[in-house]
Amino acid sequence: MKTSISILGNLLLTLVLSNCFAQQAIITKITDDDTDYTGPMIDMHSHAFNENSSFSLMLGKEMDLAMTGKIYKASASMEKLREETLAKFEEYNIVKAMVSQGELWYEFAPEKVIIGNNHFLSIEELRLKHKEGKLDVLGEVAPNYQGILPTDDSLKDYYDLAEELGVPIAYHLFPGGPPGGAYIMYPEIRAFQGKPLQLEEILFSHPRMKIYIMHAGWPYLEDMKALMYAHPQVYVDLGVIDWVLPVKEFHHFLKGLVDAGFGKRIMFGTDSMIWVDTIDDAIAAINSADFLSMEQKEDIFYNNAARFLNLTDEEIKKHKGQ
Ligand SMILES: [Zn+2]
Repeated sequence: MKTSISILGNLLLTLVLSNCFAQQAIITKITDDDTDYTGPMIDMHSHAFNENSSFSLMLGKEMDLAMTGKIYKASASMEKLREETLAKFEEYNIVKAMVSQGELWYEFAPEKVIIGNNHFLSIEELRLKHKEGKLDVLGEVAPNYQGILPTDDSLKDYYDLAEELGVPIAYHLFPGGPPGGAYIMYPEIRAFQGKPLQLEEILFSHPRMKIYIMHAGWPYLEDMKALMYAHPQVYVDLGVIDWVLPVKEFHHFLKGLVDAGFGKRIMFGTDSMIWVDTIDDAIAAINSADFLSMEQKEDIFYNNAARFLNLTDEEIKKHKGQ
């Protein structure tokens, strides 16, 4: 009898214990997942390409990113790129995305694609695009690739147009191209061209111009703090730095801006280009920032961009399932 009781006792104990452990495992799992923000998200930095883009040369190939030790495989075609990127948007509940050359993808996701067109078009062409509803954002504007500074006279009319039409400008400062890009494919690029404070007179002379700095002006953290302090209209996106940099450096930079009080002007961005798996790493890099609360993550992944884009309360409620 005793034996059966002890066996029963042991069994119960085991059950209780295993149940505790199971509980513990579930609790652990829940708490781990709970620190990840799971959407809705707005990607303020994405690109569509057609076949005659220079990126076509890299389709289907692997890119070995020495800085992080990661290898990314490019999509097999520009059509595949569209499909795979939109599938990632579904997977991560990315409800809106600013897509440079977004006209190429608009018909496939009209509720999501925010159409970007840039300074490669003339002012007249951009006015026409705007009239046709095909100019939601002026960007990505990245004249640095041609060695042109933001203060160059050739860009003044674009700032005027952005301010006149109330269209946000998305301005790329640095980093540009792969590490060492000047020696590979962009001989005009120089790091000094990416210094954020050179934008001051442009901002001051265009006070109603909406602007966000792409890649958050990395690595010029102190300059970006000064710029965002002096010019409260400046927002930033986290495109490319959330996957091209070692996570430690990305967290250091992001924490610097958040600790300085600019957490309400930092927007999620991927800049995944032709490597859609970078979207996984971009989201993971922000979610793994243990110095961010869930509210701060929600601001970065959604609220700040929703405010910057003047989304309506209805749209926001719909996105948040309210
Ligand atoms: Zn970009």
